Amino acid sequence: PYEVLVVGGGPAGAAAAVYAARKGIRTGVVAERFGGQTLDTLAIENYISVLETDGPKFAAALEQHVRAYDVEIMNGQRVEQLSPAAEPGGLIGVKLANGAELKARSLILSTGARWRNVNVPGEAEYRNRGVAYCPHCDGPLFKGKKVAVIGGGNSGVEAAIDLAGLVEHVTLIEFAEQLRADAVLVRKLESLPNVSIVKHAQTTEIHGDGKKVTALSYTDRGTGQAHTVELAGVFVQIGLVPNTEWLKGTVELSRYGEILVDPRGATSVPGVFAAGDATTVPYKQIIIATGDGAKAALGAFDYLIRGGAA
Ligand code: FAD
Repeated sequence: PYEVLVVGGGPAGAAAAVYAARKGIRTGVVAERFGGQTLDTLAIENYISVLETDGPKFAAALEQHVRAYDVEIMNGQRVEQLSPAAEPGGLIGVKLANGAELKARSLILSTGARWRNVNVPGEAEYRNRGVAYCPHCDGPLFKGKKVAVIGGGNSGVEAAIDLAGLVEHVTLIEFAEQLRADAVLVRKLESLPNVSIVKHAQTTEIHGDGKKVTALSYTDRGTGQAHTVELAGVFVQIGLVPNTEWLKGTVELSRYGEILVDPRGATSVPGVFAAGDATTVPYKQIIIATGDGAKAALGAFDYLIRGGAA
């Protein structure tokens, strides 16, 4: 069996694997797609000490760092089921989609998350060419330009407030008749001079010139009238969904499906730790996910040296 088995090969999983392997214990990583969300990222400019890199390069560096240690990487494998240990300190099982079963004394869940898409024409085509999902990451690319934010929940309204300080103008588009964000955020948003708020509107298309985004169309759901706004960027903020569906019923999750963790990364199941975007850790960023992975690996190591006693 593995001493530490990491499920997920994004920044959190890679960091956890390096930290575990450096303790000289048998470590494995199972990942559906090693690199995780960073593979879909264009420029990364906020991983401190690396001034600028791109997603695929960053993902390759993660893998290189893990491979520098004696870690078994099982890439292209999806985990479907977790079986808690029968007794404290016992073996935990995970079942792969291919039918194989792996055993481990401790587990680190770092399956990340995915942004919910609006699924309109142009979204996929112009992803990373004007269509963005992370204002902390890509906001500065739109300095002095016009952008839209789709979604009037807390993340959309926070994004619009954040972007308003960087860009020329923000149009916030909400599907419902009212914004769903906290009142204090809505008040702040409404006080900003360079923000327009469009409620009860359905985004219908993101337009581009073949290279980058140029406009967005929406329909007023009350009148049925179509509108087009010229802009350079569209931030889609309609939810980040943790990849934890397979854990329902075994590991305690928040109402948003995030894995509940304590300050050491321990979950509700003994020996099972979690890190990164799949958990309740606030602010989903690479640098946060890597730190979190390191923390969960040290938490798991602590658990192991205590023989599984809490
Ligand atoms: P992920 O990166 O999501 O990795 C999850 C891993 O788990 C993957 O290997 C996946 O294949 C695997 N997995 C999932 N389910 C299973 C399963 N059932 N079985 C096996 N494996 C599974 N952050 C920044 O700090 N700076 C940026 O510039 C930046 N830009 C971004 C741009 C885009 C387009 C996106 C989508 C995100 C961006 N982010 C950025 C956010 C950042 O990528 C994430 O916060 C970070 O990747 C989270 O790391 P993670 O390891 O928790 O999860």
